[in-house]
Amino acid sequence: MHEFRYINNRLYCEKVKVEELARKFGTPLYVYSYHTMLDHFHKLQAAFRSVKPLVCYSVKANSNLAILKALVDKGAGLDIVSGGELYRALKAGCPAQKIVYASVGKTDKEIEEAVKKGILFFNVESLPELENINRIAGRFKRPVNVALRINPDVEPKTHKFITTGKITNKFGIDFAVARRILLLRRSLCNIKICGLHIHIGSQITESAPFVAAIKKVIAFLARMKNEGVTLEYLNLGGGLGIVYDNEKPQTAVKFAAQVLPLLKRTGLKVIMEPGRFIIGNAGILVARVLYCKSTPRKRFVIVDAGMNDLIRPSFYNAYHQILPIRYPLSAIRYTEKVDIVGPICESGDFFAKDRRLPRLKEGDFIAVMSAGAYGFSMSSNYNSRRRAKEVMVVKDKAFVIRKRESFQDLLRNEIIPAFLMGL
Ligand SMILES: *Cc1c(COP(=O)(O)O)cnc(C)c1O
Repeated sequence: MHEFRYINNRLYCEKVKVEELARKFGTPLYVYSYHTMLDHFHKLQAAFRSVKPLVCYSVKANSNLAILKALVDKGAGLDIVSGGELYRALKAGCPAQKIVYASVGKTDKEIEEAVKKGILFFNVESLPELENINRIAGRFKRPVNVALRINPDVEPKTHKFITTGKITNKFGIDFAVARRILLLRRSLCNIKICGLHIHIGSQITESAPFVAAIKKVIAFLARMKNEGVTLEYLNLGGGLGIVYDNEKPQTAVKFAAQVLPLLKRTGLKVIMEPGRFIIGNAGILVARVLYCKSTPRKRFVIVDAGMNDLIRPSFYNAYHQILPIRYPLSAIRYTEKVDIVGPICESGDFFAKDRRLPRLKEGDFIAVMSAGAYGFSMSSNYNSRRRAKEVMVVKDKAFVIRKRESFQDLLRNEIIPAFLMGL
């Protein structure tokens, strides 16, 4: 599962004590386990071995260059959603032919750049976007590959902000429009429609919604084949759920058992875009307790990390396990119900509410578990807080993969106009 565990009541990441990392590098601190991340990647690849999928790690889950490089070195492709992510993907050494690009709002500049670099294909989300790519592709010699992102209208049973495959969501193209596009494909002479794409949401813990979506797409493929349309790729997107609390998400093996028979019947090349599944449980956010405060109704534990570092609890009402990084036996007897909150001037700035935890005191360290995905990548400078340092642990070694921001970093792009300087 993951390489964060207690040994003699101390929390370890692989072979390193988390407390040592916290003292050496300071807090707030993101800690990633290299082997956990690779293990998840390999598990998915192994489960789908018989169709040799191209596993394109979803960059937005955690886009640190070192993380991208580690995965790319093991053969991963990358799934990107912006020009910035294209830039990162190439800097991390990802071959352009292993990059797929989705987003409902690709700009002309972003499209041009991706065409120039020769990415594998765009996942196109609307007819106007398709026409725009066709227009831009006209300036280049070779045809540009695209896959149609289908909105299969299924209920993925996850948080509404991370549902993307219902017909009321902004993502993808419905079947009727997709059919029309495929039938008029010859009039779009600068592009080649090479596949279909689905991505129905995130943190999906059951196979049923995936199976429902894949079945719909396969029926559609069969219908289109009858109308003379043949394609090369089926991109399944990401969305595989992980354990945050007591979820029982499908494993890679179970997921494969459900969908492989369907995929094989299509004969198409398979692409997958896991993000959370690979990096979610491979990262934690370490924070230090600044103060403990009791009010007539509540006990608050105030830590030095905030919603700017990890927004998931505030944004999605997401649950994260909180662990003390020292766990003396006595702690189990003395527990209390607390809110773990950050220093930010928002009541939404919390990591846990009414959570029963061993008694914490000032100076203790806590770990917010399963913070590897949509943690750092969604972090901000709100309250002029410098973004956290990130370290990657490989067995008994820890490598800084992002420095803590400096105060100068905060101001780097700001300009006081001359008139305000009295000039
Ligand atoms: C965000 C995203 C993913 C990854 O989703 P996870 O839930 O992290 O696996 C994959 N594909 C697309 C198009 C996405 O937008």
